Amino acid sequence: MITDGIASGSAVATHCPYCALQCGMLLMGRQDAVTVNGNPKFPVNQGGLCAKGWSAATLLTHADRLLTPLVRDSIGTLVPASWDEALECVAQRFKQVQQRYGKNAIGVFGGGSLTNEKTYLLGKFARVALGTSNIDYNGRFCMASAASAASMALGLDRGLPFPLEDMRRAKTILLVGANVAETMPPIMKYFEAQQQNGGTLIVVDPRRSATAQWATRHLRLRPGSDAALANGILHVLIRDKLVDEPYIRARTTGFDDVRRIVATYWPERVEQITGVAEAEIVDVARVLGQASSAMILTARGPEQQAQGVNNTLAYINIALALGAVGKPCSGYGSLTGQGNGQGGREHGQRADQLPGYRRIDDPVARNHVASVWGIPEADIPGPGKSACELLDSLGPDGVRALFVMGSNLVVSAPDALRVEQRLKSVDFLVVADFFLSETAELADVVLPSAQWAEEDGTMTNLEGRVIWRRRARNPPEGVRSDLDVLADLARCLGKRSHFSFGSAEDVFEELRRASRGGPADYSGITYERIDAEDGVFWPCPAADHSGTPRLFIDTFPTADGRARFHAITHLPPAEECDDEFPLFLTTGRVLAHYQSGTQTRRVGALQEIAPEAVAEMHPSAARTARVADGERVRLSTRRGTATFRLKVTRSIREDTVFVPFHWGGDQSVNRLTNCALDPISKMPEFKVCAVRASADTAENPE
Ligand code: SF4
Repeated sequence: MITDGIASGSAVATHCPYCALQCGMLLMGRQDAVTVNGNPKFPVNQGGLCAKGWSAATLLTHADRLLTPLVRDSIGTLVPASWDEALECVAQRFKQVQQRYGKNAIGVFGGGSLTNEKTYLLGKFARVALGTSNIDYNGRFCMASAASAASMALGLDRGLPFPLEDMRRAKTILLVGANVAETMPPIMKYFEAQQQNGGTLIVVDPRRSATAQWATRHLRLRPGSDAALANGILHVLIRDKLVDEPYIRARTTGFDDVRRIVATYWPERVEQITGVAEAEIVDVARVLGQASSAMILTARGPEQQAQGVNNTLAYINIALALGAVGKPCSGYGSLTGQGNGQGGREHGQRADQLPGYRRIDDPVARNHVASVWGIPEADIPGPGKSACELLDSLGPDGVRALFVMGSNLVVSAPDALRVEQRLKSVDFLVVADFFLSETAELADVVLPSAQWAEEDGTMTNLEGRVIWRRRARNPPEGVRSDLDVLADLARCLGKRSHFSFGSAEDVFEELRRASRGGPADYSGITYERIDAEDGVFWPCPAADHSGTPRLFIDTFPTADGRARFHAITHLPPAEECDDEFPLFLTTGRVLAHYQSGTQTRRVGALQEIAPEAVAEMHPSAARTARVADGERVRLSTRRGTATFRLKVTRSIREDTVFVPFHWGGDQSVNRLTNCALDPISKMPEFKVCAVRASADTAENPE
């Protein structure tokens, strides 16, 4: 067991609070002055950190931290309250709402940055303490399409079914819609090693991003055309006999239907749809088809679309046709974004899910989890509303009270002004957070949470490696762990006996039992093993099981052991460009900020790098809009208008505008984005909508 740094004065080995790479860190120093170093012994980052990680400790002692609960008083002001007052207020209001409007009148909204223990306990809290079916989380904005597609095609969703290490020796990697050079820079050492080993990196992105500039080749596709591009590449692979027919026959089903569909995606036609030149499509297909090991990686680019599942399935089709899935240094993976984007989608905070990645409508799963929870199976509610559907239902005719933990919806949700109005329409809003986020500002009760370095918990990184994020300091006076808050609230609601845990590890022990036998089986994982083994890869069904770094080697976890091809037809985005809105708007992240910016916008060093949201446009589009580099551009969509400082750059397509989404208020690009949902994953279409650009000047009022 690693020593407790607070008591011993030694370094505490823990992990970064931000993205899914979950870089290893060493925290040193006293309670009021913690310093960060990269942990050279943690294999994923080997000491490397990005600017966000290096500066993470400044938030522990930040002046904006919430140090006491806040309750809105009779004149509408949030005022300090004791924990007893705040918790009793929440419990009473929840009881009143449920007595008048039924159990499902309360919604719970979680987040992909919560630890596995919090994810698990929040799901249990919703079902056992509140008895509501309405719980979902912000992973619907992030990983849901890849999760659905991998489950449908491969029988199991684990973002990367292989360790990052395998990327070093992949001959060809097709990286689709990920700007990892900015979002998770330490991962670039794997791509560097791959290139040094003679490998080829092909990046697909409407922008010549920092990652695309670094790659061997770059396909600058039109936003919303991923499925057509993937089908076009597969068309060439089949035409040129570069697919692995023995693998397809032995390990897959459904290829004949795919063959028929992709026959109609000849390169000339795909060029018309995607804007990628016919010759480039043919070349890339050949590079992939002739590689001794090929890897396809997708991220939010193709996934955050109303066709996100189909787009991802189309890319998985390529990996299966190449016979790459389950082979060394090959295969398909999705690069998870949020810190616990992987574990956060496994243990029950999704509307359709029970712990262990089980379905809530599966009678066997319900019986197992009910036995762990000590309740009748019939008391577990059925499936609830997915995230956007839940937000859409807020108000007098639907869900009347909402409990938000670890999510800043006012900034991160699509069509954000509408979401803000919905949040204002509920009878009662409770938010647990470290800072008074834009969402917390609307709350009736705000509960101050402990931060990453102030509590223990496990996270599951983008490889499926379960790691231990250790406590390195005590929370400030007046601040509680979310786990304690859930247990306290459950006590106030009369459910104390189901939430009696002495520590995060106690919660994990119950999670282990609840996940036993499920697809994401953690039952063989312990805090001690994580410590000794630099993390343990799930599934790990027994104490003497070594964990599973690589999946699908011999078989797929489907009824017949085979992977499934899916015949995909390209469909246009939910909103196409027209005379009124002639450009595509796409969104993403920048190096200095993380998600809704609640944390990183409070770090001086990061604000210096990126103090505001900057829109990127091609010179020709900027000329048409009569706005110059450095001036302010007004962007309007069918949902709203916002203005941004403009960067004119040839690195973006002429028909596309890019804006990062880390800001709220009048810099909120999500006031413009479209909440059209993928029919399967229920993921909104952040990555493409139609927009109009104009100069933002006094002479040119909207
Ligand atoms: Fe590593 Fe991501 Fe943290 Fe940067 S933000 S240090 S890449 S875990």
